Amino acid sequence: MKSLSRNSHNWRRLGWAVKRGETIEQAPASLGSARGSSGLLRDEGKGVRKSQSRIVSRALSVSDAKPVVRQIDSWCGCCSSHQRGYGSAPGDGQVYRDKRYAELKDADIVHFRQILGEKGVVVDRDDLDWANTDWMHKYRGNSQLLLRPQTTQQVSEILQYCHAGRLAVVPQGGNTGLVGGSVPVFDEVILNLGAMNKILSFDEASGILVCEAGCILETLDNYLKSRGHTMPLDLGAKGSCQIGGNVSTNAGGLRLLRYGSLHGNVLGLEVVLADGTVLDLLGTLRKDNTGYDVKQIFIGAEGTLGVVTKVSVLTPPKLASVNVAFLACEDYASCQKTFAEAKQQLGEILSAFEFLDRHSLELVLKHLDGARDPLPDSKESFYLVVETTGSNQTHDKEKLDAFLESALEKELIKDGAVAQDISQAASFWKVREVPGAVYKYDLSLPLKDLYSLVEDMRERLRDSATVIGYGHMGDGNLHLNVVAPSYDDKLVSQIEPYVYERTAAVKGSVSAEHGLGLMKPKAIYYSKPPAAVQVMAGFKDLLDRHGILNPYKPTASVKSTKTFGTPTFDVTICRSDETPLQTKLKVKFEQMPLLV
Ligand SMILES: Cc1cc2nc3c(=O)[nH]c(=O)nc-3n(C[C@H](O)[C@H](O)[C@H](O)COP(=O)(O)OP(=O)(O)OC[C@H]3O[C@@H](n4cnc5c(N)ncnc54)[C@H](O)[C@@H]3O)c2cc1C
Repeated sequence: MKSLSRNSHNWRRLGWAVKRGETIEQAPASLGSARGSSGLLRDEGKGVRKSQSRIVSRALSVSDAKPVVRQIDSWCGCCSSHQRGYGSAPGDGQVYRDKRYAELKDADIVHFRQILGEKGVVVDRDDLDWANTDWMHKYRGNSQLLLRPQTTQQVSEILQYCHAGRLAVVPQGGNTGLVGGSVPVFDEVILNLGAMNKILSFDEASGILVCEAGCILETLDNYLKSRGHTMPLDLGAKGSCQIGGNVSTNAGGLRLLRYGSLHGNVLGLEVVLADGTVLDLLGTLRKDNTGYDVKQIFIGAEGTLGVVTKVSVLTPPKLASVNVAFLACEDYASCQKTFAEAKQQLGEILSAFEFLDRHSLELVLKHLDGARDPLPDSKESFYLVVETTGSNQTHDKEKLDAFLESALEKELIKDGAVAQDISQAASFWKVREVPGAVYKYDLSLPLKDLYSLVEDMRERLRDSATVIGYGHMGDGNLHLNVVAPSYDDKLVSQIEPYVYERTAAVKGSVSAEHGLGLMKPKAIYYSKPPAAVQVMAGFKDLLDRHGILNPYKPTASVKSTKTFGTPTFDVTICRSDETPLQTKLKVKFEQMPLLV
């Protein structure tokens, strides 16, 4: 075909196709990355293995961003006055190991072996290395113990013991989180859910899937595919992340525009509380108004309120007709107009609307093996990935063609290519998802302000870093990445708190979908009023009296010590009552005018 020969990667050039009124044809796959079809890391449900750490290293090595390994600042493993920096900016806050947490003893390990057997208790330092280090290689803890329960009863017994003995615990899934939430800060026990990976039931009529928390997202999707359904979320880490981790981070991803967030799709959860109580909220009902919807507080709680052990999720039917268009736009204003046009014209079949700037594309083309430019002749500043999903190919194709034709005529888009093959579509997602940045900011912003922050940051940092912007435009979610040759405190101080202040100034969110983890301890106040943080602290007190679950991560362990409304708001990390172990964060109201 003429169009195919113009573009050696089997994308059909849009200008040619639309102008000639051609049909969208099935094109063979060609753009798949050398990394396989499903993201960067792979667990295969077999849990933590040494090979995983090699895969992680290899994945990072294709990026030009140097992985930053931030060692614990002054951990010696033998006393309890340890301290470390956290967040993106070292020195921007120090966390001290809380003396109230017990240190691990041989007797503890013996006890855990009694619960889990030999296989479920990992003490080998090499094996622990993977679990102690986050996906970005930015945070590294020093846990001496990883536990791999296989049943809810075992999770309950473990937590009961830890609660009684004040052993701190980090719940961990696939360890693909991007804010350091899944790794220990000091010597917390790692509770990895990877061995709880059974699919428990699936009802084809209702589309309701019930499974254990350690099931890998991609495994679930493959299971559903053969039964005519699909998971309501999809993300670049799907080959490694677990549904329990997705729920605990309230992961958004690529399909949120179409299917909504996990707050809507998760119908039930089984959660083990810090004291070992099993909370059975594993309903499969779509409607249940008997009092508060308690399961919601565990969705996005980042492992601070309980350990998710089972999930019931509503899965949509897998629709046969999928089309993907890769479009080039001259400027950001055209991207916005194209989005408005897409909503108007594609209506119910619009399933994803993503954007990336030229800098992101170039970075990926340079560093990701197998990545190819679908529009090698276009050098526009912005690119859009528009996906439609429907049940009738003829109907969908007509709609998509009409939309593309109108966007071309109105000069909203300059060029484009379309594809129907799903592996090509997957390569789009990879282009968007593997930019290899070191400093990642995940922000919700009003659409009109989404890209100006990238431009301002570029101007601010000039030659000291490469600033790229991409994201889920359909959800108002910008991923602002700053790629620098090496970790540099001075650079961080130029980025933060500026990036958060700018976000707060337009009433955005400093964490759209990744959570707060260890990266954004203070930043919560840019997006939540103090009164809301107090309510969160109340939940934490209620559900985890001794604060053993994911300590030092401030999602819900931030506790106000003064009534809000005073000029300065002091918060205490880890609910420590002992002065030397306290970390006071002075959050001044005048720094956050929109919060008062
Ligand atoms: C390449 C790549 C692409 C990504 N794309 C997206 C994206 O598009 N959208 C998006 O939202 N995110 C994205 N992410 C980040 C996303 O948060 C994670 O990939 C995923 O949701 C985390 O799942 P996990 O099993 O790896 O959890 P982990 O990383 O292991 O844990 C994340 C948090 O959840 C807690 N946790 C994990 N399991 C449990 C459990 N069973 N019970 C209680 N707490 C638990 C941990 O303590 C931690 O705080 C991406 C990450 C990568 C590496």
